[in-house]
Amino acid sequence: MASKPPVHSEQYPHSYYVDTAKEIYAHPQLESEISADVCIVGGGFSGINTAIELTQRGMSVVLLEAKRIGWGASGRNGGELIRGIGHDPAQFQNEIGAEGVKAIQQMGFEAVEIVRNRIQEHQINCDLQMGYCDLAVKPRHMDELEEEFSALKAMGYQQEIKLLTKGQLGEVIGSDFYQGALVDMGSGHLHPLNLALGEARVARNLGTQLFEYSAAEKIIQGARPKVITAKGAVNCQYLVLAGNAYIGHKLNAYLGGKVLPAGSYLLATEPLSEAQCASIIPQNMAFADMRIALDYFHLSSDRRLLFGGLCTYSGKDPKDIEAALRPNLEKVFPQLKGVRIDYEWGGMIGIGANRMPQIGRLPDANNIFYAQAYAGHGVNATHMAAKLLAEAICQQAGHFDVFAKIKHMTFPGGPTFRSPMLAAGMLYHRFKDLF
Ligand SMILES: Cc1cc2nc3c(=O)[nH]c(=O)nc-3n(C[C@H](O)[C@H](O)[C@H](O)COP(=O)(O)OP(=O)(O)OC[C@H]3O[C@@H](n4cnc5c(N)ncnc54)[C@H](O)[C@@H]3O)c2cc1C
Repeated sequence: MASKPPVHSEQYPHSYYVDTAKEIYAHPQLESEISADVCIVGGGFSGINTAIELTQRGMSVVLLEAKRIGWGASGRNGGELIRGIGHDPAQFQNEIGAEGVKAIQQMGFEAVEIVRNRIQEHQINCDLQMGYCDLAVKPRHMDELEEEFSALKAMGYQQEIKLLTKGQLGEVIGSDFYQGALVDMGSGHLHPLNLALGEARVARNLGTQLFEYSAAEKIIQGARPKVITAKGAVNCQYLVLAGNAYIGHKLNAYLGGKVLPAGSYLLATEPLSEAQCASIIPQNMAFADMRIALDYFHLSSDRRLLFGGLCTYSGKDPKDIEAALRPNLEKVFPQLKGVRIDYEWGGMIGIGANRMPQIGRLPDANNIFYAQAYAGHGVNATHMAAKLLAEAICQQAGHFDVFAKIKHMTFPGGPTFRSPMLAAGMLYHRFKDLF
């Protein structure tokens, strides 16, 4: 039927992940009109895992990806698999009640388990390594880490956690830049593109029809929504929109207006010697610091330092990512001064105004679902969102409604002016970070 794109990686943005991808597979382009119980738009973690969850529950599923599977944030991110949803749900107690807050806290822990189980059950080779540290840059961050430690204990978090003072930091990191850390052995790091590609294999084997180069261009809402692509169409009973930061305004202005794309970027160094690795990250953990414009980093399985950071709201990538990020890398690890950089890349994080993941149904169509805006915390949260969406579509008991109750503001300024407005807001927060 459809002409197949070639089985190589050229259409992915160049990155360390693409050069070390294990299961790149050419899916066809949609070139006819077909039907399924559910049509999913977006081939990242959200879309692929929703497909897995739905096919496991007996639904027929078609997934449409505009580019390649894992082409978006899922195939480019820092690979940090971190407990929680990246934000404190207690602020939403008025909307979701104390029970809702508790449910989201527990789901944030469960989300990591979903990822770990999927990797183990389906033997996805994605370099999963447990061990993660939140790093304090300012003395006040240490107070926040102490609070977080007590809160995790109070919530019954079962994984090994401990606080490290500045003097104890050498156990986990060879850097003088930090004041202390919270170690969490229940979080870790992985190769995100290999996770996405492995999960796509799982979805395919379960019967999902995946299409690449098949952007959803138009949605006709109704009792059976119809999704139109350049060369085909999908008729379905339920539609899931999982385009996150890449969804844009054209396909659905309601969702596009609630998620703001923010650029984040990574460097991969040349492979380091074993001695260098031991001197910078002796226990192979992942790290992120506690500033708004944070640094995040860990070692790859072939001993490169993957170092991420920056945050741009202009929609444009920096001209020279290495020039922008190298000073941060060398500030954290002066012992790597002059290290060769082999790769630089970036992608778009989807940010919502209140920083909570947006999981719900369109207000004007209760058979059209969505999940987006995980900020920089989507590796686990997407997997939880997928489960919630599948439970809601299959009318099974779950916590979909807890998320669906949370209200999400539309960014003012429309597609043209909202990014500069947010950039100004973020500058203010970065200024506060200086103290
Ligand atoms: C540089 C970077 C670093 C990050 N680091 C981390 C980290 O270390 N830990 C963490 O937890 N999170 C991190 N994140 C966030 C995390 O990657 C995302 O939250 C997560 O991958 C979102 O997955 P998703 O499937 O919702 O969206 P995406 O992976 O972005 O997938 C959306 C897909 O939808 C497709 N699409 C959009 N519109 C259409 C359409 N009309 N038709 C068909 N397809 C469409 C896109 O092409 C894209 O492939 C990072 C993100 C970035 C960019």
